[in-house]
Parts: sequence; structure tokens; C-alpha cells
Amino acid sequence: MKERVILVFNVGSSSIKYSLFKNYELLKSGNYERLKTKEDYEDSVKKIFEKINSEIDIIIHRVVHGGDLKKPSRITEKIKKRIKEFSEFASLHNPKQIRVIELCEKYKKPQYAVFDTMFFSEIPEIARTYAIPKEITKKYGIRRYGFHGLSHEYVSRNMKGKTITCHLGAGSSISAIINGKPADTSMGLTPLEGLIMGTRSGTIDPGIIFFLEKKGYDAEEMLSEKSGLKGVSGYNDFRDVRSKMNKDKNCKLAYEMFVYSIVKAIGSYIAAMNGIDNLVFTAAIGENVPMLRRDVCSHFSYLGIRLNKEENEKNSKMISSKSSKAKVWVKKTDEERTAVEEVLKILRTSE
Ligand code: ADP
Repeated sequence: MKERVILVFNVGSSSIKYSLFKNYELLKSGNYERLKTKEDYEDSVKKIFEKINSEIDIIIHRVVHGGDLKKPSRITEKIKKRIKEFSEFASLHNPKQIRVIELCEKYKKPQYAVFDTMFFSEIPEIARTYAIPKEITKKYGIRRYGFHGLSHEYVSRNMKGKTITCHLGAGSSISAIINGKPADTSMGLTPLEGLIMGTRSGTIDPGIIFFLEKKGYDAEEMLSEKSGLKGVSGYNDFRDVRSKMNKDKNCKLAYEMFVYSIVKAIGSYIAAMNGIDNLVFTAAIGENVPMLRRDVCSHFSYLGIRLNKEENEKNSKMISSKSSKAKVWVKKTDEERTAVEEVLKILRTSE
């Protein structure tokens, strides 16, 4: 296969992660955090190109919402227009990702987009359909799209049977996967549905939204940026919530609510799949917090899920005990590598 130097951008709501690959080999990576303004993003992109200081063949962007785009796409004006259209459903992410794509244009390299939604494009109709009028869902493309697809796909690879993957970070989602095929996922039309997150409410009574709008609040901003752990405790960073929870009752409540939302999602997918063979924890919180994994798994003792205490404390790859009825894993996610693999797959077929 042709050798290519590939720069991958993983642009988040307040950060830019980047990785440099030579085909599948990782050469360099880094990140810029706590970005707020347009200038912060511009500055970071400039610094990344300065730091890389080597010839690049292609640039790949992880794009959160790709709507009905099922495959990685070479970025053209048409694709940019599609990504902009779906910004409405991912207002914290897509606009920033488009901005970084446009900033990269001046380097005149082929650019590709890999979408977080791709993995879930084939989830069954029963799981992807919202019970609202059909003509409306059709007109606007309203359905469950699901997010963190690169991560859920990566950590569930080679897992046989019924698998539940828990991607727990600033944004969190849980998926049900049967023999590698997604059956359901907790995020929906937007990355706001599902679990409680750093600043996102997750699933709430839709009546709350109508009420807030009537009272004159910007419900979207409130539920996306001021809710979740931050709304309950004042802290959006999980590490703060955890370190203060012994003294601060709001932090304790936020932690317990987070665990409870994870437990409910896992429980519902065990029921939906009529069983579980593998439970996988990933992303910054899933990979690094034994206490949280223990607290979550304690709710499934009735099913015979048992942790090996020592392995859990060490964040080992396999943390279930020998007698456990399902295997419990800690897997380090790698969205950037998955993005590279997806793009090289399509490039290889055209070589
Ligand atoms: P994003 O969803 O933007 O990619 P991350 O996956 O980096 O975010 O997750 C960020 C969250 O993970 C923050 O709440 C942070 O507190 C938490 N976090 C990061 N590292 C650790 C760690 N080592 N232990 C516990 N929590 C962590």
C-alpha cells in the first residue's frame, strides 16, 4: 500500500486533539484544551502545523454529526454544506469542526471527514425511530443517529455475542452491540440524549423544555452547557466532582446520579438484548475510575456479573472474575486510529 503521512484532527467542544500517522503507525500526538474563542481555535491549528513540521499527504477530521452519510467522505463544498446542515443537531461540535476544516484549506491537502454517526447508520428501525408523526421525521431526517461511533466500534471489535459498551468522558454514551452490529445507543438525534454528562442534562422529561421556553430561558443552551454534573454540583469536570464528593453533598448527588444513569442504560440494554456477554468501559472516565466501575457493576450482581477487585483497581484489560457470568473489560479507545483505518479502507479500494 502507498505510504501516506496523515494528520488527524479530533475537534471537541473545547479542545483539539491531533495525531500524526504514517499509514497505521502513530508518529506524534497532542492536544490543546480549554479553547473558547474563534482565535483560540485558529491559534491551535497554526501551532499544530508548526509542531508537525513535516510533509503531510492527507488530513482527516472526526466530524460529530454526518446525518445520513454512511461512509468517510472526501471533503468538497457539497460535503461541507451537508456538515453545516447537520450543525443544527450538533451545535456544540459541527460548527467548530467546519471551522477547523476551513482553516486547513490553506494547506492545500486532500481532506476527509469521518463521522461519529456512521457506525449507527444501520441500527434497527425499532431503535432508531422516534414516536412522533412520520411526515415530520421524514421531512427533517429526525431519527436516532447515535454518536461516539468510532469509539464504540473500536472497543467492541472481535467481541462475540451481546456486548454493551460504555464510553464515559465529558460526553458519554452507551451502546448495545450484537456480534459487532449496533442494536441501540443512548445518544439520539443530537448528542444530548441519554446519560448525564459533564454539562449536558441527558434524557429529561420533554415537558421541562416547553416550560423553560415559556419562562424565557434558552433551553438548548441550558441543557447543553449548564446542566449535567455542572448543573447539579457546580463542577463539570468529573475529577472535581469525585474529589469533593465526601464533603460536598451536591457533588455526591451528581456522582450518584451519573452512576444511576449508567446503570439504567445498561439494564435496559440487557433487557433489550435478552442477555449480556461483554461489558466494556472506555474513554477517560471509563478507563481510569475503578470506583465508578465497581459502583456500576454492583447493580448487576443479580445477573452474576462479578469483578476481580485487584484487576479493577489496576485498570487491567479484563476486570471480571473467573466466575463472572459476563466478561467485563477496560479498553482504551482510539478514535484517531479508527478514523485512519476507515479512510485507508476506502483509499485502498481505489488504488
Ligand atoms: P471528551 O469527551 O471531550 O473527549 P474526555 O474523554 O477527555 O472528553 O473526558 C473528559 C472527562 O474525563 C472529564 O470529566 C475529566 O474529569 C475526566 N477525566 C479525564 N481523565 C481522568 C482520569 N484520569 N480520571 C478520572 N477522570 C478523568
